[in-house]
Amino acid sequence: MKTRFYNAYVITCNDQFDIFPNGEVWVEDDKIVYVGEAKDGFMADRKVNCFGDVIMPGFINSHTHLPMQIFRGLAEGTSFSNWWIDQIKPLENNFTSEQMYWSTLLAVAELVRGGTTCALNNYFHQKSPLVAFEDSGIRMATHIDVRYGLDKTKRRHDWENRYADLNKNNPLITFFVSSHSIFSLDETGLVDCTFLAKKYGLPQTIHLCETLNEVGTCEKDTGKTPVKYLESLGFFDYPATIAHGVYVDKEDIDIFKKHDVSVSINMSSNMKLASGIAPIYSYMQKGVNLSLGTDSVASNNRLDMFKEMFLASTSQKVLLKDATVVPPKDVILMATRGGARALYLDDKIGQLKKGYQADIIRISLAEPHWQPLNDIISHLVYSAISSDVVMTMVAGKILYENGTYYIGHSMKEIYENCDIAIKTLLREINKEK
Ligand SMILES: [Zn+2]
Repeated sequence: MKTRFYNAYVITCNDQFDIFPNGEVWVEDDKIVYVGEAKDGFMADRKVNCFGDVIMPGFINSHTHLPMQIFRGLAEGTSFSNWWIDQIKPLENNFTSEQMYWSTLLAVAELVRGGTTCALNNYFHQKSPLVAFEDSGIRMATHIDVRYGLDKTKRRHDWENRYADLNKNNPLITFFVSSHSIFSLDETGLVDCTFLAKKYGLPQTIHLCETLNEVGTCEKDTGKTPVKYLESLGFFDYPATIAHGVYVDKEDIDIFKKHDVSVSINMSSNMKLASGIAPIYSYMQKGVNLSLGTDSVASNNRLDMFKEMFLASTSQKVLLKDATVVPPKDVILMATRGGARALYLDDKIGQLKKGYQADIIRISLAEPHWQPLNDIISHLVYSAISSDVVMTMVAGKILYENGTYYIGHSMKEIYENCDIAIKTLLREINKEK
């Protein structure tokens, strides 16, 4: 299949941040074969006149929990610890594989609707969400949690069996080792994660420095900040992406830079749970790779990378009382290139480049909030909304276009099954009370 996007405002997100105001992108099967100025010579099966719309790489969401989609709006106005232990855990204790499948598909629909083509998914249960990703055709990095198999002597073995069971060498699915957080696993558990990461050549991901309470407890127990504690265990000797990174000191940031650790900024979740504001500008000053994540809709409450871009930029202006910091171009790169690097997929995705995977989105400029088109890069961060996305393509396959989803199931089926799932879950919980 050959597709030609022409008459497009092409934002490449390449090394030079090349932009082609009257550009073209050619796709053959799953790959990009041309990006640049308008030209002839491609015998396309489908020619798409973009009428000046933006064509750019899909967004990459570097931290989320997609199976939690049906928990949206159920735990509001509460602190992080109450939110997790009192509100979310009882739901998770009763969550079935089939419910997770439909909930994950609802999340995939929201992702592709808003132009996200890849995410790093974290959840304690992997199997049915993984089937949902495969059925939908989205690209996904998914973790396998080391918390399973809590018998310490069998933990590594159990993890290895699960990895062998889950890994079908699907080119759209990659894996991370996850410890969840420093408060979910003891020291030997964290060392087990690093052992497995090394043995299988996989990156690690962990929630880190999300709340003041986490940092204070770690300092009391170990005498070190969470970042220095993990460094002392050799955790950062292998590739890692940490989520949140709200409470870090200068030395912690230096450690991230030294070990080339990527940070996933989850601004809307951290703000809504009153956790704090990550020091994006300080990370940028040190050259730490930054990416953007939404966290789950149970805490933020949308899988919306436009919202994350807006908040990543504006939060720092408020924090530093300086309107010049973290300009739009930087956050667009966090949402694309930075995410690709955080997921260790930057040789395949994150930019529009010949030979790269065709993970491409089209953004309509037709609505009033885009006019006049004085500065499209600024508009993309401060004016655009996720419903401006009119087409989302993953590996050359269209998953969403002009109101229609191509993710393996109808939206009616997904909504109905999610509705049944959450009503059943809430009934179960109420019975237990
Ligand atoms: Zn999280």
